[in-house]
Amino acid sequence: MLATIPVTKTSSSRMTPELRDNAPFGAVFSDHMLMADWTSGKWGDPTIVPYGAQSIAAAPAVAHYGQGIFEGFKAFPRPNGGAVVFRPQANHARMARTCQRMAMPEVPASIFIDGTMALVQLDRNWIPEKDGSALYIRPVLFATGEPLGVRPSETFRFIIETCPSGPYFSGAVDLLAEETYVRAFPGGTGAAKCGGNYAGSMLAAIEAQKKGFHNVLWLDGIERKYVEEAGLMNVMFVIDGTVVTPPLGGTILPGITRDSVLTLLHDLQVPVEERRISIDEVFEAHAAGRLNAAAGIGTAAVIAPIGRLSHKGRELKLPALSPDSPLARAGVELEAIRSGQIADRHGWLMAI
Ligand SMILES: *Cc1c(COP(=O)(O)O)cnc(C)c1O
Repeated sequence: MLATIPVTKTSSSRMTPELRDNAPFGAVFSDHMLMADWTSGKWGDPTIVPYGAQSIAAAPAVAHYGQGIFEGFKAFPRPNGGAVVFRPQANHARMARTCQRMAMPEVPASIFIDGTMALVQLDRNWIPEKDGSALYIRPVLFATGEPLGVRPSETFRFIIETCPSGPYFSGAVDLLAEETYVRAFPGGTGAAKCGGNYAGSMLAAIEAQKKGFHNVLWLDGIERKYVEEAGLMNVMFVIDGTVVTPPLGGTILPGITRDSVLTLLHDLQVPVEERRISIDEVFEAHAAGRLNAAAGIGTAAVIAPIGRLSHKGRELKLPALSPDSPLARAGVELEAIRSGQIADRHGWLMAI
């Protein structure tokens, strides 16, 4: 039974099919958003209101000390105006772990999950209908307090906003293994979905782009030797038919897509190894003709094949993902579950 959340509807919907179906990702938000505030040590009642600017402190605590975190997942259209949300409980659980790491109050399911479902239900005409399109759901939680003293804020705001997201054309991504900067290190915040991780990684991406790459391949923060993530995605390699992916363990963001793909690979009886893999091993496997494929894994692209990888002046190229690659097969399986072509055997979909 979902909690009932009060709604103030917009008096002037901005939705037009042209806007919804053609806007570049993140350029337009749907008509409504959910909002809830943490004050005096507890959550206030959530409300759904027209999407728009809100008044906050001149320089809220998030701007000083960085208590700002987020999530990202999608709702997919179903025939007859219905929709399904993919694994909202997993994102809720991940946000709770991020909250703990960042000393922020956890958002209860009655706000995160029920709020998501109510918002998607209300703005369901914003879900694009084209194959591969979705409504992207972005919950954010940030510190709104004003004191300059360094301590956790006493007030926070939680917002869920959504935006239409067209089909993602995942051409191959070209990555430069990063030698100067690191994204994460043991004991740091690499496993938390916090804005600070993104701020700290932007310069590396910009410098890689100047050199003709899309993004960086992150190596571990201690030895700059082991592969950790592909830009803003998790990473998987196929070596001699076995899928190899770095293990979670504090420095890697525990992707819901990564988890889903691993589950489906298991169903498909593909051998999987969650273990450390060095950048040298990747190049050696390629030189020996054993590196079948490599890909970034995440909500936006699901599976983004890596086309070119460079490290210390050496470079390797990979062909397009073949349809019988284990990664391509897991991707097809995931799409079939999301679109309802095959049974939701892992209970991943929540219908509005
Ligand atoms: C969000 C994120 C991912 C992917 O997580 P999904 O839940 O699969 O979208 C991977 N790496 C980083 C750094 C991320 O922030």
